[in-house]
Amino acid sequence: MWHNIMRDNIENILQKEEFDFKDIVALLQAEGKEQKLLFAKAQEVQLKHVGKKVFFRGLIEFSNVCSKNCYYCGIRKDNKKVDRYNLNDEEIIAAARFAHENKYASLVLQSGERSDQHFIERVDELLQKIKEITHNEIGITISLGEQSDETYRRWFRSGAHRYLLRIETTNEVLYKQIHPEDDEHDFENRLRCLNAIKEIGYQTGTGVMVGLPWQTYADLANDLLFMKKMDIDMCGMGPYVEHHDTPLFENKDILWPIKTRFSVTLNMIAVLRILMKDINIAAATALQAIDPMGREKALRVGANVIMPNITPSTHRKDYQLYQNKPCIDEGADDCGDCLSLRIEMAGREVGLGEWGDSKHFLNRKE
Ligand code: SF4
Repeated sequence: MWHNIMRDNIENILQKEEFDFKDIVALLQAEGKEQKLLFAKAQEVQLKHVGKKVFFRGLIEFSNVCSKNCYYCGIRKDNKKVDRYNLNDEEIIAAARFAHENKYASLVLQSGERSDQHFIERVDELLQKIKEITHNEIGITISLGEQSDETYRRWFRSGAHRYLLRIETTNEVLYKQIHPEDDEHDFENRLRCLNAIKEIGYQTGTGVMVGLPWQTYADLANDLLFMKKMDIDMCGMGPYVEHHDTPLFENKDILWPIKTRFSVTLNMIAVLRILMKDINIAAATALQAIDPMGREKALRVGANVIMPNITPSTHRKDYQLYQNKPCIDEGADDCGDCLSLRIEMAGREVGLGEWGDSKHFLNRKE
């Protein structure tokens, strides 16, 4: 009986034009038949508003040197067990060429966070160089953390046109629990950065971790409402996967079971697809760390972007923000081929040779 009442509720909620906070909390808890209804609705919205295509973003994790100390992250500055690396310019350019020649059409430059002058200038030069050697045929997303407005402007002028800066959680209390409390890890500054990125004209992406210690369904519902209010263009969110060489690991006993974190992440993707019909949503690699078919499942419930790792495989093992990261031993070729197959298995098409910009961004600029 209770079960039927729940199912009716979910059915009713899914018929509404707009979800309120309570609706979202209920949807995020959907399991079994209720979850299937949610996924079916998300799939319907996805096919209607962004279609079957899935776009590649060749991911280059060019350095794991980081000046920050987020409590959940395996490459935080104080983790002395990590072998630090910094790809040289030739290696980065070679990876960009690989993406271009294989029609990935877009790449993501990502590294640990640094804001020293040398780093800022180096990224600037790399952006210009990649644009030059690909005849401006490749779109560039950067994911390089909190920077000054001037730096964001400079990198935008040099060719980056999408920026991904995850808020990780919009609950300020929780944010302080998972970061050191100092000027370098300031919640307000993260918000300032997101606003600056958007104002400068980047396609703006953010995202959260799902299943952090102390996190609630209400927190996650607020995260989705934050994204809607911020009117973001792209989202990348994944389950929190603990790393044993981090301070947050000591709270592992209060975590949701890993399967719950996985399942709720899929619910987050599905609800976000219904809330923000035409944005780009990435199928996070962390999903595959939990379930070998994790990313395919995400593609079926709303995600439309996937990020093949094209970092030279010798360094992939050193860029582990979380444990059990998949594909760390494979060459870039294996990764692309394996992903194309996986995408087709998920009933989607690879949008090779297309930038695959966020339709939401294009629509809001009209
Ligand atoms: S999450 Fe990002 S900024 Fe924080 S420690 Fe890891 S790489 Fe550095």
